[in-house]
Amino acid sequence: MFTMCQPLRSKANLVMLFKGYRRFVRTTCRVSIPGGSLGNELKAPPRFLRDKKIVPDADPPHKEDIHKLYQLFEQSKRLTILTGAGISTECGIPDYRSPNGAYSSGFKPITHQEFTRSSRSRRRYWARSYAGWRRFAAAQPGPAHTALASLERAGRIDCIITQNVDRLHHRAGSDPLELHGTVYTVMCLDCGFSFPRDLFQDQLKALNPKWAEALESIDHGEPGSEKTFGMKQRPDGDIEIDEKFWEEGFNIPVCEKCQGVLKPDVIFFGDNIPKERATQAMEAAKQSDAFLVLGSSLMTMSAFRLVRAAHEAGAMTAIVNIGVTRADDIVPLKISARVGEILPRVLDVGSLGVPAV
Ligand SMILES: [Zn+2]
Repeated sequence: MFTMCQPLRSKANLVMLFKGYRRFVRTTCRVSIPGGSLGNELKAPPRFLRDKKIVPDADPPHKEDIHKLYQLFEQSKRLTILTGAGISTECGIPDYRSPNGAYSSGFKPITHQEFTRSSRSRRRYWARSYAGWRRFAAAQPGPAHTALASLERAGRIDCIITQNVDRLHHRAGSDPLELHGTVYTVMCLDCGFSFPRDLFQDQLKALNPKWAEALESIDHGEPGSEKTFGMKQRPDGDIEIDEKFWEEGFNIPVCEKCQGVLKPDVIFFGDNIPKERATQAMEAAKQSDAFLVLGSSLMTMSAFRLVRAAHEAGAMTAIVNIGVTRADDIVPLKISARVGEILPRVLDVGSLGVPAV
C-alpha cells in the first residue's frame, strides 16, 4: 500500500485506496511495496494466497533444479544472494511485475519527484500507508527467509542484498544490505533526522483522531456507522471513503528537529540509491564466486548491474524466479520455481544446513 499510490482523482480511486486495507484484513497482508505466518512449513504457499493471485502460479520444483541449486551452494565459497519481491509475495506482500503483480491491475507507484514536489501526493501516500501499516507490519517471514537465515548461519552465504523494504529477512534472523532502504524508518528530507516508523504511526494517529477512530471501527466490524466518517463498507468487502474528507482532513507530521518534510527511508522510483550503499553492493557482487538471484525480475537497473558485474567478474550466476528477468540472456542457470518451495528442498538434500568445513 505504501508505494501503491494510485492517483486519487475519483471515487473509484478512493475505493481502491482502501482495497489494500481490506485485503490486509482478509488475507493477512495486501500491500504494494516494491514489497499470515507461513512459519517453516515446507509446502506451497497457502491456498488463499494462490486464490487471491498474490502468488504467481508455478509447478512444484523439479528434482534436477533442486540438485543444480544444491551444487551452487555446495561449490561456492563466497556466495552473494540478491532477493526481490518474489520472496515476499509468498508472505502475502504483492509485487509490481509478476503476472499477477500490482502493475497488472494498472497500478502506478509514486515517484520520488511526486512525493517531494506535491503535498497532495504526500497526503495520499501517508494516508494509505497509515491505514495499512498495522497489517503490513504483522507480515511474517516465509520459508525462503527462514531457509536463507539457516544457510547464512551455517556459513553458506557471504552476503545477502535485498531489494525488499519489508524487513522480513531481519525477522528471520538475517541482516541484509537493504538496497532500496526500508519502510521501517522515517527520515527528514531537509535535515536527515531519522526515527522509527512506529513512532511516526503514533504521531499520525495523534494528528488524525477521526481516522484512527474510523479505522478502529472498521477493525471492530462497525462499518457504515457514523464513526466511520465517510468510510463505508461495500458488499464486496471493499471500503469507500469520502474524497472530501480524505483530501482535506489528513494531517502529516513534520520533522521535530527542523519542521521539514518526512519521507519513508525508501528509494522511490526516480530516486537514486545512495552512493556508499550502491558501492557496497557492487563490491559484494564483484568479489563473489557465485551470485544467486531469488525472486526478482531484475528490471531495475541497480539490481541488473549487480548480476552483470558478478558474471563479468567470472562468478557462477543463477536465478530462481517465476517469469522472465532482465538477465535471462547472461545467466546460465535459470530456474522457474517459488523460492519458498525450492530453498527448503535444497536444504533437505545434503548437509548445507551444517557449517561448511
Ligand atoms: Zn528535519
